[in-house]
Amino acid sequence: MVYKCSSCGSCMIYDFKEKTLTCPSCSQSNPPEPVSDNLDDVEICPVCGGSLSLGRYGTAVKCGYCDSFNVIASRLSGEAEPSAIVPTFMSRKHMFELLREKFSRYLCIIPEAFSESRLKEVIIEYVPYWVYHFGIRASFNGEIRTSKTTGNTTVTDTYAVRIVTDLGLSNVPVDASDLMPDEIMDDLEPFDLKTALPFKIEQLSGSNSERFNHDAEFYKEEAACKASSQAYDYIYEDLMKRYPHATNLSERTIRDHTDLNITTLDIRYFLLPVYKYSYTFHSGRVLDYYVNGQTEEVWGTAPISKPRLILAVAATILLFSGVASIVTTILMAIGGAL
Ligand SMILES: [Zn+2]
Ligand SMILES: [Zn+2]
Repeated sequence: MVYKCSSCGSCMIYDFKEKTLTCPSCSQSNPPEPVSDNLDDVEICPVCGGSLSLGRYGTAVKCGYCDSFNVIASRLSGEAEPSAIVPTFMSRKHMFELLREKFSRYLCIIPEAFSESRLKEVIIEYVPYWVYHFGIRASFNGEIRTSKTTGNTTVTDTYAVRIVTDLGLSNVPVDASDLMPDEIMDDLEPFDLKTALPFKIEQLSGSNSERFNHDAEFYKEEAACKASSQAYDYIYEDLMKRYPHATNLSERTIRDHTDLNITTLDIRYFLLPVYKYSYTFHSGRVLDYYVNGQTEEVWGTAPISKPRLILAVAATILLFSGVASIVTTILMAIGGAL
């Protein structure tokens, strides 16, 4: 589906602030003129006939030929329809501001890596997540040793402790996209799922998105593992409160002496916003950047210019030789050209 502006024919994009499709060309929010999917082949753009880079699970993508934002309605229905979407109100420009700020202390970054001319390369990706709600009965059964020193006297005690706690762990997210690196997605969490809105297909116009790559059962063990870590943390904090002078409490002790009985209470399918941008060096090396579209958490490393770095090192060395001013002049003269 492509949402064309009824006034000027441009492709409309969804504005979460206005809660409607808006035309980026003429700013109209009139009802769109939808162009339906090519039912013979959803990977063909219905506007220009070009081939869409959708892949097996793609549900929303910009046509590389006519720049229309395609949303594949047939891949977003039935069990593939998300329960909810967490909106992003962040602009592409703001993503670059965050990246510039994060790397501001580096003297040798490539200035054009986050320049305005590259803004169009920023992709807003709505990443499929399964969100689990677990009930966990955590039973700790072990010995706790305490030691308390008053003046010159140290009193040690040993307690046989059994604690049973029922925990409700809701909103445990697991990313359901093979394309998005798990460790990076874990670093970008958490997302505040309370801000989620009921899903509507047109909300994806202007973004990239995928449907879940595997069903909820496939990721359940990973989700249970995340929930287990939270349960162990809870038991640890609970025991530390009860026995503040404990000497043998560690993550290992907790895991060795706690049984977890995990019940799945609910599973929902969400789309969560992540900004993606890649910078390619002249050498072909690529640096990827990711930003949580909700919390603005940034993932990525500084795009360091090797020539600038070499000059900076040379300047430092020559500083002691009294000719640093010459190198500084060279650096200023070369500016962003490196
Ligand atoms: Zn328009
Ligand atoms: Zn097209």
